[in-house]
Amino acid sequence: MEVGENTAAALEVATTFAELGLAPEILRALDDMGYSIPTPIQKQAIPLVLAGRDLMAQAQTGTGKTAAFALPLLQKMVAHANTSASPARHPVRALVLTPTRELAIQVHESVVDYNKYLPLRSTVVFGGVDMKAQEADLRGGVEILVATPGRLLDHAGSKMVQLSQVQFLVLDEADRMLDMGFMPDLKRILNLLPTKRQTLLFSATFDDSIVGLAKSFLQNPLKVEVARRNTAAELVEQVVHRVREDDKMDALLRVIKAREISQALVFTRTKIAADKLGRRLQKRGVPTGIIHGDKAQVERLAALDGFKQGKVQLLVATDIAARGLDIVDLPCVFNFELPYAAEDYVHRIGRTGRAGASGLAISLVSPEEERLLVAIRKFINRDLVEAPLPEIAPPRPVAPARPVAADVPANVPTDVKQPDVKQPDVKQPDAERQPRMARPRREPVCALLQPPIKPVPPDQAT
Ligand code: AMP
Repeated sequence: MEVGENTAAALEVATTFAELGLAPEILRALDDMGYSIPTPIQKQAIPLVLAGRDLMAQAQTGTGKTAAFALPLLQKMVAHANTSASPARHPVRALVLTPTRELAIQVHESVVDYNKYLPLRSTVVFGGVDMKAQEADLRGGVEILVATPGRLLDHAGSKMVQLSQVQFLVLDEADRMLDMGFMPDLKRILNLLPTKRQTLLFSATFDDSIVGLAKSFLQNPLKVEVARRNTAAELVEQVVHRVREDDKMDALLRVIKAREISQALVFTRTKIAADKLGRRLQKRGVPTGIIHGDKAQVERLAALDGFKQGKVQLLVATDIAARGLDIVDLPCVFNFELPYAAEDYVHRIGRTGRAGASGLAISLVSPEEERLLVAIRKFINRDLVEAPLPEIAPPRPVAPARPVAADVPANVPTDVKQPDVKQPDVKQPDAERQPRMARPRREPVCALLQPPIKPVPPDQAT
């Protein structure tokens, strides 16, 4: 088997979803979501998946990769779509494995959106919550199952799910699954699947371990690649403000007020720093959620849910917790602390400027972080524009963009000390602006509640 020898760039010919040969029911759902143009990964991957090929796709969250596998798989299952009540008529045909619960929920949410005019059934299963509701869904029969590996094995072990009719396997964020130590679970799952199937592997990186995984899971795969996040991040306006460490919180609030930022993800390096900043912001009256690895699943879901619904204005997060989160229309990301790994900077700013939309990434950099800034500049191979903290505009009689998100309190200081910095132009001079793509319209109801999830206390979670 050759891995990665064939690239499929030449196949990127279709410019509309209709040209990709998708069923009218799927096209209608895409239309409802406001998708008009397939993204590069969709243009490349959809014809190949429809042609039945195994794929190794190098594409991160934010490129439109979920639709790149979900749409052609739905198309391939249209022939099996039926309204029978019998579970036997709804065997699992497509299995999507993801490393985290949050990604599983997001992927399933997209599947539900794309599948809304087809009678195919789907569900999502992940650990940390009661198994019973998931069991009821599985018993009823689903054609599309999105799962994290551990919980899937739990259900398979208790014979709640049968995987012998799986025709399509998707390994989403395969690199993270390996990083998180899922290889033994993946191998166990592989043993439950038919050998004759189509397998699609999505990964941000293609290192030796991914190639090894592909060798055991895929057959003669084609390789497709889209712009690495370093390139995608060119859509994001990136600004550096020099600020003393002690002044960072005031600077954060000042930027939010001056730029009238309705919602932002705020990154810290550590869980302790996330907790501390989150609490300080809450004390200042800013609706703030906190998300990091030590938070119980229930708390993480609540924070994310509040953010997605617009009730929470700032979501303070650590790098690991924020990976894979896709929050639609996130206008801004703050680096409250620069990351130790320059690569994480690229992951962070990839949270905004999704699928062709422009975004804003603001880094508050203290003198102690100079070395980290140098490393980031080198990694992304471009200069980051430095700008003085913005002035706060006089109040205007305009309604806030999101009425539920409270405004920054009026006591935000405007006298944050900062070193003299020239270069007032905050636009990236070399940023290649691309046409803004239609954003999917989503109900403000959080997908995390769908299907109903009954959280259990963390000590009872599996
Ligand atoms: P993903 O990389 O799958 O996480 O997708 C990132 C975001 O882009 C999601 O919010 C999708 O709903 C959105 N998206 C995916 N494909 C398109 C498209 N063709 N046009 C507009 N938005 C899209």
